[in-house]
Amino acid sequence: MQEIYEQNIEIDKLREECGVFGIYDFDGNDVASTIYYGLFALQHRGQESCGIAVSDTRGPKGQVQSYKGMGLVQEVFTEGGLSGMKGDIGVGHVRYSTAGASTRENAQPLVLNYIKGTLALAHNGNLINAPELREELSYGGAIFQTTIDSEVIAYHIARERVTAATAEEAVAGAMKKLKGAYSLVVMSPRKLMGARDPYGFKPLCIGKRDNAYILVSESCALDTIGAEFVRDVLPGEIVTITGDGIHSDTRMCIPKEKQARCIFEYIYFARPDSCIDGVNVYQSRIMAGRFLAMDSPVEADLVVGVPESGNAAALGYSLQSGVPYGTAFVKNGYVGRTFIKPKQSSRESSVRVKLNVLKDAVKDKRIIMIDDSIVRGTTSDRIVSMLKEAGAAEVHVRVSSPPFLWPCYFGTDVPAREQLIAYERTVEEVREMIGADSLGYLKLERLEEMADGLPICKGCFTGKYPMEPPKEDIRGSYEK
Ligand code: SF4
Repeated sequence: MQEIYEQNIEIDKLREECGVFGIYDFDGNDVASTIYYGLFALQHRGQESCGIAVSDTRGPKGQVQSYKGMGLVQEVFTEGGLSGMKGDIGVGHVRYSTAGASTRENAQPLVLNYIKGTLALAHNGNLINAPELREELSYGGAIFQTTIDSEVIAYHIARERVTAATAEEAVAGAMKKLKGAYSLVVMSPRKLMGARDPYGFKPLCIGKRDNAYILVSESCALDTIGAEFVRDVLPGEIVTITGDGIHSDTRMCIPKEKQARCIFEYIYFARPDSCIDGVNVYQSRIMAGRFLAMDSPVEADLVVGVPESGNAAALGYSLQSGVPYGTAFVKNGYVGRTFIKPKQSSRESSVRVKLNVLKDAVKDKRIIMIDDSIVRGTTSDRIVSMLKEAGAAEVHVRVSSPPFLWPCYFGTDVPAREQLIAYERTVEEVREMIGADSLGYLKLERLEEMADGLPICKGCFTGKYPMEPPKEDIRGSYEK
């Protein structure tokens, strides 16, 4: 039996955990198909599972229809299934797991029936105190259906709601206990709420289309559904959308200088057509390329990007240096979720299945190849040798992020330190391993400039996290 990849084959990249979407249509239109298209635009944030939950605010309180499954959005939902989901308020989710197994039970949104009605929740991020919170709830009699920390959040909100005057007060009460990264969309029978952790690790923004309000991880999804961007949810803010409009609670916000957005949204995760906290993702990648050209110049004939996220930085490098920008790789976009992994002995490699080199474009040329990151380094050597086999005279690798050296506890799947190519190796040693003629990384101090001065998290590069990290690696701890 050949091994089957469970995921899209990726070329040595980190993975984002999730994308969230919520909508409330005050004209009473069904929202399920809009959520579907919104999730479709967020597919890059998670390809393992997805789900939609809707409710009719004019119907009986607490009647929620939900459907979720393993796979891509277009695989899980059918036209018939969507049209059967009736409701003018709803939430949706796409997931890749970093904590909690990849199973249907762990798919979101989570729907919880409790004394005050029904709650549906979708979450992006990772809590660093989820094991303690789960234990506390378990001793109180809670029985968990899933192994994800999102359920811990849902339980806390439900528990707070029993005594809180309103659903948004219950979210605020729960937030006081949560430590870590979370962008949430929460649907109660008559309200749509969104919350972002005080550090602002993960993005969340507000959109509007006609008489409908939307809460979503990335603004690119607003374009997809024909909605206009209203504003970002502030780090620490809770927004509540009801028939009276948007209400904002900023009591949990912290001083701006303490915020810590995940810089990886700008480097790689987010779609280039998104804008996060006022910073255009595409422009920030162009800037990273410009910085590489300033800080690691090299004489060459052509600058190329490793698709897709290396392309913008390659253009930035070209604009800054004057070295012409070109295309060296053609990407096969049809590699699906299940993919038969080539055998070790086979001449086909998963890299070659996904990428091919335009030989005429690189032959006899000195190439600067821009990649957004090198994580394990397992594919960089193959990409470099593909260029050389195609006749490139020299291959100079420039990376639009600093070297990875530390784990992430906030929802990004950084592998163990020993697996990181830069761990305990000099840049020269890494260069030799990947077979490049030269190698340059983005300087650490350039990261803030890349995010236009916004306070950022750069823990996976420095080991200095915006909050005390857990004593041990908690990722996936519920499976133990
Ligand atoms: S440690 Fe790295 S990946 Fe994790 S939140 Fe911080 S910047 Fe993002």
